[in-house]
Amino acid sequence: MSRSAPHLAAVTAETVKTHCPYCAFQCGMEVTTVRAATTTLRIAADPDFPVNRGQMCIKGFTSAALLDHPQRIRQPMLRQPNGRLAPASWASALDFVAGRLLALQAAHGKQSIGVFGSGALTNEKAYLLGKFARVTLGTPNIDYNGRYCMSSAAAGQNRAFGIDRGLPFPVSDIAETQTLMLWGSNCAETMPPIMQWVYAQKERGGQLIVVDPRLTDTARCATLHLQPTPGTDLLLANGLLALAIEQGLIDEAYIASRTEGFADLRRSLLSCDTTYVERVTGVSLDKQRRAVQLMARAESSMLLSGRGPEQQSKGTDTVLSFTNLMLALGKVGKPASGYGCLTGQGNGQGGREHGQKADQLPGYRLIEDPEHRAAIAKVWGIDPASLPGKGKSAYELLDAMGPKGGIRAMLVFGSNVVVASPNSSNIEAKLKQLDLLVVCDAFENETAQDAHVLLPIAQFGEETGTLTNLEGRVILREQVRKAPEGVKTDLEIIAELAERLGAGQGFKFDSSEAVFDELRRATAGGKADYSGISYARIRQEKGVFWPCPAPEHPGTPRLFAQRFAFPDGRARFHAVPHRAAAELPDADYPLFFTTGRYKEHYNSGAQTRRVPELEDAKPEPRIQLHPRLAKELGVVEGQSLIIESRRGSLSMSVIISRDIRPDTLFAPFHWGGKQAANLLTMPALDPTSRMPEFKICAVRARLAGVAPLAKRPK
Ligand code: SF4
Repeated sequence: MSRSAPHLAAVTAETVKTHCPYCAFQCGMEVTTVRAATTTLRIAADPDFPVNRGQMCIKGFTSAALLDHPQRIRQPMLRQPNGRLAPASWASALDFVAGRLLALQAAHGKQSIGVFGSGALTNEKAYLLGKFARVTLGTPNIDYNGRYCMSSAAAGQNRAFGIDRGLPFPVSDIAETQTLMLWGSNCAETMPPIMQWVYAQKERGGQLIVVDPRLTDTARCATLHLQPTPGTDLLLANGLLALAIEQGLIDEAYIASRTEGFADLRRSLLSCDTTYVERVTGVSLDKQRRAVQLMARAESSMLLSGRGPEQQSKGTDTVLSFTNLMLALGKVGKPASGYGCLTGQGNGQGGREHGQKADQLPGYRLIEDPEHRAAIAKVWGIDPASLPGKGKSAYELLDAMGPKGGIRAMLVFGSNVVVASPNSSNIEAKLKQLDLLVVCDAFENETAQDAHVLLPIAQFGEETGTLTNLEGRVILREQVRKAPEGVKTDLEIIAELAERLGAGQGFKFDSSEAVFDELRRATAGGKADYSGISYARIRQEKGVFWPCPAPEHPGTPRLFAQRFAFPDGRARFHAVPHRAAAELPDADYPLFFTTGRYKEHYNSGAQTRRVPELEDAKPEPRIQLHPRLAKELGVVEGQSLIIESRRGSLSMSVIISRDIRPDTLFAPFHWGGKQAANLLTMPALDPTSRMPEFKICAVRARLAGVAPLAKRPK
């Protein structure tokens, strides 16, 4: 903490270095508390934090508005017989929750209780929530909203490299690579400060290839833009590798010395017909050749993917086609080279390492592995046999709510599942069937509309905790001020519920640092080993990269230079044939629909839609469509269109742009109610990662009172 001299005798200012509450870039920020007649918070970007280096986006700069927001909940709320929420004391609210949980367990079994976590939770919260679900509640059914974000990239990296860390190198390596391929990431909009590294790469004479169906702000910076038909990313990536093989661009020596499985992959690619790839993806063979030559011939090249190719029912295979390509070109593990995923949520990385995912235990251990179970049971002081097995994945867990699916109670921590889930009207209907819905949040979001109990929580800046950014760097989000009267931290809520449920002993911690110390022990020997990381080290070193297995270990900024995380040290190729999206345009629904983000809003918008500057800048979602399609539909800019899929419909005003393909509609997913993009989307799940197909579904569009378009525009 540093102090600056007051300008006036009556004014004091105190500055704390902390981190943004939103995305996985986790920009370092300086929050200054100015105490004069009133107390105000001023936010500036931290020039010394090595990731954002003095830059932030509008979301971070305006985030202080969340803390004293007039709509903030400051006391627990209990649903009354008249259907309204009314204030309650903490004791009565927690007694009520514990009593209902015990009654439902007795009536329907322990597995009838569900827990839904979040990529916004700190590592300490994710860890304690996983322990609470498995030890106190005894339920296998815990998952989190990161399943909707990075799970396909995680599954792909685990299968190819034996370990999943979003970026296996620091973001600063982006500036060093000669050819950068950004695939399905509009990072100029989603995490603008990362662009300083992209611009530096270009200034050094680097090539930037962007693959995106839309001409985004990121694609505008590219030297080469490939604009595939939605849902054909896997085919395109396979096609690039087939071209690399055909043109002799692969690195045979690297393949022989560092990998397994290339012969099978090569055989599977024999059926990859380049003219078919060109026709189905819509990307010319000439552009494909240029792209693969730029990647292969450069001394260093890097492929970074975003949610575009990952949020598909074949997202894992698509990521595997990326790892295949980069391994075959001999790039993975070399300086400023390889494959990485641009993680989205603030703690999307740490959130999946510490046990709030249905199939995992702390340290990135697997819940079905006997040795892993034994290691964690020892730390928790329980019999390994008492640990539940693998639970349902996020969408399946929500879809199972109600008497038919068997989930009778749901505890939601930091997630707005109604807005964030595909086929959202189904999830909204299922929430209404619960016997107990508990929502822990700072605001009454769309999910809380059906809550029996709403528990108000402390926000960023009001508590201390660690997060793991997109590089695998463990950072410390410091407390700036005391939480307001009437709210509790998630850690306190978990501990007090555990006490009431008769298992308080394992949850008594006097600080988040004490929780972190147990987390460190629990991760020792796991893939995501944090045992050498401490709050003191993070403060001193501006973050520490995992794995870090001992206090004297320097941490691991770069992975794979010598070996991959399989026993034999070799990476794995996987043959991943193309398959179509679960739902394609047809005569009834002739258009593609895809979703994405605005730079002013974050995920479900539960926070950013309440920040005045952000609301003023982007007060509503708009549906983007090509002028040719607009003409066929007879719609002009600003008019409202009704968009319908087989699951639901919405109405949005249009924005007409040549940046999108004539056969595709795009909408952001930050709004709820009748403007929720996820009313339309598909719950088709990736067979490995269980990621829903957010990015592709078939829709039709019409003006009110006019018949929908019956054919797909050219
Ligand atoms: S939202 Fe992301 S990019 Fe923007 S300030 Fe926060 S951490 Fe940085």
